[in-house]
Order: sequence, then C-alpha cells, then structure tokens
Amino acid sequence: MSENIVWHNTSVSHAERTQLNGHKPAILWYTGLSGSGKSTIANAVDRKLYERGCHTYLLDGDNVRHGLNKDLGFGDNDRVENIRRITEVANLFADAGLIVGTAFISPFKEDRAQARALAGERFIEVFVDTPIEICEQRDPKGLYKKARAGEIGNFTGISSPYEAPESAEVHLRTAEMSVEQAAQVVVDYLLS
Ligand code: ADP
Repeated sequence: MSENIVWHNTSVSHAERTQLNGHKPAILWYTGLSGSGKSTIANAVDRKLYERGCHTYLLDGDNVRHGLNKDLGFGDNDRVENIRRITEVANLFADAGLIVGTAFISPFKEDRAQARALAGERFIEVFVDTPIEICEQRDPKGLYKKARAGEIGNFTGISSPYEAPESAEVHLRTAEMSVEQAAQVVVDYLLS
C-alpha cells in the first residue's frame, strides 16, 4: 500500500465538463450470462448515443482481459479484482464526462454493489436477462460447448453461479425483443 499520497483537485470542474459535453456522464453496467447479448446490445446503444452526439466509451470484457487484466484468471478472487479494476477505470472515464458502457458477466451481487457504491448515482445497472438455454443455443464464442465438455472451469451458469440482479434500473428480456428494441430501451432510460 502506498503512503504519502495526496488527492489533487483538478482545475476543470465536473460541471464544466458536463456543460461542454451537453450531457451528464453515466456508467451503463451491463450484466448477464455469457452469450446473453451484453456486447451486442452495448454496441448498439453506443452507436445510437454516438449518433446523437454523446461522448461515449465501451469497456468490453474480453478486450480488458487482453490488457489491463491479463494477469487475472477466472477464480473467485480474480473475478473480484477484475470487477474492481473495471469499476475504477469506468469511474475515471465517467469523471472525464463520458457515458461509459461496461459489458462483463459480473456474476456476483456483491461486486456489482461495490461498483455501484464507487460510482454513485451515475451507476445504471442493465440486466441482460436471457435464459441459459438460449445463451447456450446462441453460443457465439463456442464457450458453452467447451464448458459442457469440461474444457473450461468456473463457467458462469454451469460450474460457477450467476446471481441475478433484483432491482436493476433496466431489465432487458432479450428472448422477447430484438437487439434494436433492447438498445432503444436503454437509450430512452438514459436520456429521459
Ligand atoms: P455477451 O456479450 O453477453 O457474451 P454477445 O453479445 O457476445 O453476448 O452475444 C450474443 C449473441 O446473441 C450475438 O450473436 C447476438 O447477435 C445474438 N442475439 C440474438 N438475439 C439477440 C437479442 N435479442 N439481444 C441480444 N443479442 C441477441
């Protein structure tokens, strides 16, 4: 742990950044099983916001694991650290004034609660609610097949739990809506 570290206030205020951007920052925290549609919907939302002139950035699970979190695995402790780092990074982007999307399974309630506590009122939990049978049928990355074959351990929904949110700000039942419809629900919530 570092000592002798002092927080520096920045000269450009949060209010000034918000005014320049023309919108408030937010963290859209997508959570759901692998293959539920987090990345797909987050990208569709990002595109819609971009087209409206919003300043956005998307933090995608796999991409972050290529860099920032490449030293982390999928055991419980590493998952917690994975989420902690992502939350800190999302918070920095939000401090910079952006609408940040994070597309991670984030299966544990406690981790999402920690993210919410750090992010404060700008945290918007988006539950991408897709039954596991459908995720498994979609299997866009072939991961369920590998998990069923025992080639991947700690796989959420199969050999590791997914704790569904009970009061997410946005609840998307993707079996009953298109990607376009789901993205519109998120944008409407954000800009209402
Ligand atoms: P995740 O990021 O949650 O792992 P992905 O977005 O990578 O999931 O994959 C979801 C897959 O399901 C994509 O191939 C997407 O095209 C497909 N899909 C089909 N219908 C929907 C829907 N209504 N909402 C989201 N994704 C859908």
